Amino acid sequence: MSADNFIFRMTTTVMFGKGIVDQLPAKVQEFKKERVLIVTDKGVRQAGLLAPIEKSLVDAGLHVAVFDDVEPDPGLDTIHRGAAFFKERQGDFLVALGGGSPMDTAKGIRILADNGGNIRDYAGLNKVPGRSSIPLVTIPTTSGTGSEVTIFAVLSDWEQNVKITISSPYLAAELAIVDPLLTLSAPPRITAATGIDALAHAIETYVSNLAQPPADALALRAIEVIGANLRAAVANGSKPEPRAEMSLGSLLAGMAFNNGFLGITHSLGAALSGHAHVSHGIAIASLLPYVMEYNAMANLEKHWDIALALGEEVEGLSVRDGAFAAAEAVRNLVEDINLPSRLRELGVKEGDLAGMAKSAIGHGMVKMNPRQPNEAELLAILKKAL
Ligand code: NAD
Repeated sequence: MSADNFIFRMTTTVMFGKGIVDQLPAKVQEFKKERVLIVTDKGVRQAGLLAPIEKSLVDAGLHVAVFDDVEPDPGLDTIHRGAAFFKERQGDFLVALGGGSPMDTAKGIRILADNGGNIRDYAGLNKVPGRSSIPLVTIPTTSGTGSEVTIFAVLSDWEQNVKITISSPYLAAELAIVDPLLTLSAPPRITAATGIDALAHAIETYVSNLAQPPADALALRAIEVIGANLRAAVANGSKPEPRAEMSLGSLLAGMAFNNGFLGITHSLGAALSGHAHVSHGIAIASLLPYVMEYNAMANLEKHWDIALALGEEVEGLSVRDGAFAAAEAVRNLVEDINLPSRLRELGVKEGDLAGMAKSAIGHGMVKMNPRQPNEAELLAILKKAL
């Protein structure tokens, strides 16, 4: 793949706008299905986001069941329980309402409803046999994962203490309804952690070995939008404008990384979440600036672009200094939004690091990283981040 040789995929139709979730019942009816399972979690229910959506579907004459038993960073068992419930309720349509955890759970439920077996069997690239007959509508309530449009589901294998990723074009939802008003209730720490996750998607895609012009354009715009709005969204979550910009930024980042893929922030982040049970966005925030410092020399110009997109004064700096300013800009952002910037703040000990480096080196995204690390280099990054 190169600038004149690429495939850009975007299979999910996106509807975006404040209040646009009101159109959900009409959209479900267009699919000519009747038995809807809403996959969500207790936090989303408690935030009052489920009740009006459930009622709107019932009022439209649809049969509605709710599976709200999804935990953050969902485990494999959760997918099996959800799939059993979907079968018991004879569902024929899935609506995922929540952050990445309910959206990825719904993707997993759909795989098992179509194909049976153990969800672990589908981990890796292109193991899902074919397109589903069960439509999926994703409705994000965080601005972070981009899962509303992505071809990925990330699940926690607590037996092995690792995160597994299922990657297949057949995972993409048929429709994503992105309504920024659904994110107003997300508390500051969740806003901060999910926002840094979205920024990491955009940054890692922009410098990835599979970078390509359409994904670059989306990623760079996402970096600008997130850089300009994340502080305000954390500082005052009830203001719709920064929230709408964050919803847009994480959507653009999702569209980008579906095609350009990610790098070792996500490899190390998956190892950190698996070993230390640290939630995804927090793990990413504590690693991203260190990985950017490591990666900068692989593509100084693109790191310079990132610094500029994040509002750094780079005109007049050397390309090298401008490139390293990008990592500094992210470090300042992480600090301003009050996320941990050191692994030790997450309870990680020096003795844990070698195991994490060993597990990260086998992660699928290492090959896409612009600078190719060995295990010792991954360990060195973790030591710096400790
Ligand atoms: P999440 O879905 O785990 O939600 C975190 C918490 O926020 C939950 O307690 C939830 O109840 C609460 N919450 C969500 N929306 C809320 C709202 N509007 N108001 C109040 N509370 C709200 O968080 P996430 O960061 O969106 O998702 C993380 C998961 O997504 C991880 O498992 C991660 O690995 C995965 N992920 C998936 C992809 C993908 O492409 N599929 C990409 C990145 C990350």
